[in-house]
Amino acid sequence: MKADHFHTIIIGAGPAGLRCARTLAASGKRVLVCEKNRIIGPKTCAGGVTCSGLSQAIPAQLVERHFSIQNVSSTLQQARLIAEKPMVATVNREDLGHWLAAAATEAGATILTGTAVRHITATEIVTSQGRYGFDFLVGADGSNSLVRRFLSLPITKMGVGIQYHIPSSLPEMVWHLDPKHLLTGYCWIFPQAHRTSVGAYCFRRHMNPKGLKTYLHAWLDSRKIPYQGLRAEAANINFDYQGWHFKNIFLIGDAAGLASGLTGEGILPAMISGEEIAATILNPGHKPQRLNRLIKNHQRHTRLLLLAGKNKFGCQLITESLILALKLKIIPFSALEMATEEAPHARTTEEDPAL
Ligand SMILES: Cc1cc2nc3c(=O)[nH]c(=O)nc-3n(C[C@H](O)[C@H](O)[C@H](O)COP(=O)(O)OP(=O)(O)OC[C@H]3O[C@@H](n4cnc5c(N)ncnc54)[C@H](O)[C@@H]3O)c2cc1C
Repeated sequence: MKADHFHTIIIGAGPAGLRCARTLAASGKRVLVCEKNRIIGPKTCAGGVTCSGLSQAIPAQLVERHFSIQNVSSTLQQARLIAEKPMVATVNREDLGHWLAAAATEAGATILTGTAVRHITATEIVTSQGRYGFDFLVGADGSNSLVRRFLSLPITKMGVGIQYHIPSSLPEMVWHLDPKHLLTGYCWIFPQAHRTSVGAYCFRRHMNPKGLKTYLHAWLDSRKIPYQGLRAEAANINFDYQGWHFKNIFLIGDAAGLASGLTGEGILPAMISGEEIAATILNPGHKPQRLNRLIKNHQRHTRLLLLAGKNKFGCQLITESLILALKLKIIPFSALEMATEEAPHARTTEEDPAL
């Protein structure tokens, strides 16, 4: 039987895939999104977003909490950074996923959930539900991307994050750096409205997931944060960016390695790359300026990570200097952000019937 044919097939209904689908479908293209999970949204993620970035691009109702105070500490010093306006916010990934999916569906995209893509050829995909043909294929399938494997692009730079969701909203946002043990990694407390993500992230070359979990437990114990009996969630973060355009195949979001290796920030990079690649598919002459800016910052983050991670002493020096510079307001907290939007495009409820 002939496979059902689509202009573009997108594998993965995360922020990257859904943003890409919405843009393409809004221009009248026949778009299919295949998502292996039955429910869209849930993802191992702390939900931290910057106020100059993602929180500008989503409706206010999706923001769980705003923070104008950031607590950044190391084993040697503490900085309590107070700004006039909130610097960081949190979102709930389930709610964000529902909003993104509703917007893509509203634009005309077909989303098949419970549909795992098992095999890819030059012209079609084979899923758990059947075969589908494409003119363009977009890999939005996250850090362990099948599309990336199909393109024979290895991943040599991978981070790992482990988190617990504490069933209460802790008062403040915290970042804890410990270069002696984690090198460039860190532990976090990111409160949402009714729960809090507490976790740890590091470059896999610096520490393995087991060591990271042991470190996280000791840190939570030291802060008297109870995690016993809660489910630990762990996931990789690919930051090995090696390009996004491969003939009629594209990579976006974590599949392209566009998350920050330094901070793990990946939601807005996923959305920006999804929108920019859709615009490029629609118009091959499109100049992806937002994506280019993102890639430049991504390279800056990766260079800093590789430099600081060379040895513990150098890393300690860089980390302590960074915290001091933040404390003395020599550099703003926003200097740590990777994905920023120069022209915020906040959307209202009227514009988004999905709400
Ligand atoms: C512990 C942790 C904490 C994090 N915290 C933050 C944070 O605070 N802020 C931030 O900005 N970023 C954070 N991130 C990173 C962020 O979660 C990712 O960068 C972001 O989700 C990437 O979006 P994406 O759409 O590229 O991929 P994903 O969100 O991973 O979506 C990929 C989708 O593809 C689907 N899929 C995969 N394979 C297949 C297949 N074969 N067939 C069909 N479907 C498939 C998956 O089920 C998934 O739904 C964190 C990551 C981790 C691990």
